[in-house]
Amino acid sequence: MTDEDEDLSSLLVPQLYKPPALLPIAQLKDQLLYTIEAHPVTIIVGETGSGKTTQIPKFLLQTGWCKNGQQIAVTQPRRIAATSVAARVAEELDTPLGQTIGYSIRFEDVTSAITQVKFVTDGLLLREMLVDPLLKRYSVVMVDEAHERSLSSDILLSLLKKVLRKREDLRVVVSSATLEAGRFLDFFNPENGEQVFGKSREDYGRIVGIEGRTFPVEVQYLLEPTTNYVEAAVEAVMSIHENERGGDVLVFLTGREEIDDAIDMISDRIVDLPSTSQKLMPLPLYAGLPSEEQMFVFQQPPANTRKVIFSTNIAEASITIDGIVFVLDSGYVKLRNYDAHLGIENLNVVPVSKASATQRAGRAGRTRPGKCFRLYTEVAFERLEEATFPEIQRSNLAPVVLQLLNLGITNVVRFDYLSPPPSSLITRALDLLYSLGALDTTARLTKPLGARMAELPLEPMLSKALLQAANPEFGCLSEMLTIAAMMTLQGNAFVSHDGNKKQLDNARRRFAVAEGDHLTLYNVYEAFVKAGMQNVQWCRENCLNHKSMVKASSVRKQLAAYLDRFGVKETALASSSSGLLSVGGIPIAERVRRCLTTGFFAHAARMKSDGSFTTIDGKTTLWAHPSSVFFHRKADWVIYTEILSTRDKIYIRDLSTVDMDWLAEYAPEYYKIKNGAR
Ligand code: ADP
Ligand code: MG
Repeated sequence: MTDEDEDLSSLLVPQLYKPPALLPIAQLKDQLLYTIEAHPVTIIVGETGSGKTTQIPKFLLQTGWCKNGQQIAVTQPRRIAATSVAARVAEELDTPLGQTIGYSIRFEDVTSAITQVKFVTDGLLLREMLVDPLLKRYSVVMVDEAHERSLSSDILLSLLKKVLRKREDLRVVVSSATLEAGRFLDFFNPENGEQVFGKSREDYGRIVGIEGRTFPVEVQYLLEPTTNYVEAAVEAVMSIHENERGGDVLVFLTGREEIDDAIDMISDRIVDLPSTSQKLMPLPLYAGLPSEEQMFVFQQPPANTRKVIFSTNIAEASITIDGIVFVLDSGYVKLRNYDAHLGIENLNVVPVSKASATQRAGRAGRTRPGKCFRLYTEVAFERLEEATFPEIQRSNLAPVVLQLLNLGITNVVRFDYLSPPPSSLITRALDLLYSLGALDTTARLTKPLGARMAELPLEPMLSKALLQAANPEFGCLSEMLTIAAMMTLQGNAFVSHDGNKKQLDNARRRFAVAEGDHLTLYNVYEAFVKAGMQNVQWCRENCLNHKSMVKASSVRKQLAAYLDRFGVKETALASSSSGLLSVGGIPIAERVRRCLTTGFFAHAARMKSDGSFTTIDGKTTLWAHPSSVFFHRKADWVIYTEILSTRDKIYIRDLSTVDMDWLAEYAPEYYKIKNGAR
């Protein structure tokens, strides 16, 4: 570092946690507003941190885009971005969150009648189109982070293109961190010679670029590849802490397990630090983290303390954390991947793209010159793909296909995709939806089942199981409502207080039942209700996250309200299935597991003698997640409802025992071929 740099950075240090008075976007305000006024489509390209997400909605609000009760929608690919950005903008405008500025994510609506700017997940806006197909309540829709090419944002762009052909007044703003802008504009533009509301492709849209205001970032590589980037990251953090002066550290890992491991390791090392030296404060950041814990990363650490944030790629672009001077990049990311042949949706740890690696490095140069340590070699960097593969080309498309069909788009193969998915993925989605009973043989949505499945804000397999629960054959609606609500917590019901793993294991065991995790979740919720939902102390004693449990009860209510609208009343069924009474001689626990099978038959596995599981075709080995009842216990056939993969193993979470015959009973079409093979 030169003396000059030194001077510059020391000048900037006191400002570290204050937002810069003038963000780069401020200079472009007038030009930007004019462009949006004059063109249906505006594409914004700019460095992360230049003010796209937080400032553009404010500009629009102040320029009267919310007259006549219309709103501005800003979509984000992640829930955590939608909530934290909304909070930030509300704070900047000094208004309580949920009034002028609000957010809405699945199962959590923090808006009111006076809300003018609404931050939403892209998936949620897609859902809104089911009731408001032309998005009439919005004057402007801003699709943020479009370059990430999330499944929902890709579909949303396609649908917005259609809406723009019908609404002359709508404005679409697409923001992107990289240079995919031309491609987005081209997608929206009318064909050569075509006009849309009197506009030809020459004047339909514009690209606006924002000059970044970033500092140089010095990039360093490993000379030799590492076999364990988590350990390498921990070593590097300690070395930075001992050798480099102030500035926070951001470490990119791939998932929660790695992040927890890294924090455990670093906590062990912190103990050895001399008590006089600067302190080190490790913090996790991943999508499943309870929101009150996510907020810690934005807060200024105590005096004489350096923050080290261990994050998934959430912090790559969606979220701006000030004060980061050092970035450690593992070079890996967990990406959704769908094995159409096995029908397993998986999160695979794969190398990042060059675009991602560049983006990650850039996080170090926001407030002063920074350093990025890539935990891989320069040769490995050169071999990375240029850009990330769009999610639509590697996902289970069943949820999307179901929604498109419900929007009246009957030909999902010839839909106007930004990047068309491989036809095998569409076929597979249609097959699955057909075996779930959502489609008829002509690939039309069945009524009421298919249409209701599309409306429920749950993935199709779970929707099916929940809707089947009302069927007198199963008569377990109350139980399934609870189970579905608990499943949306995604493993966050239990927490270990102060890292006491033994206490946590004991707590889990107290609620565990032999039939599996779903009924265990049901037990947990019942006990919570019995103890009194306000009973924080009881939750603490049982290693349960009180906020999560309260969330589950809210989700349960919302799901019951959906069913109520379909004319399915929980109360009406409760009397026939109350307690452990049996229907047709079948006890409730079995009816619940049968009912789950009607939705999750495609996720069947069988335990082997070594305690691992194998998929039906015997090709893939799966392991019960440590949180599962079957981590210790024996089972034969099970269905699972969640699948997660780490670097070395594929874990299944939320398992229930089933009878092998149920698979063919509830999914005869699906298992026809497989039965023949057995
Ligand atoms: P962009 O969308 O262009 O990446 P943002 O609008 O998210 O940029 O952020 C602009 C600036 O606002 C950031 O550089 C940062 O200084 C500040 N900022 C954004 N969110 C927060 C937050 N939650 N806490 C503190 N500062 C923030
Ligand atoms: Mg942004």
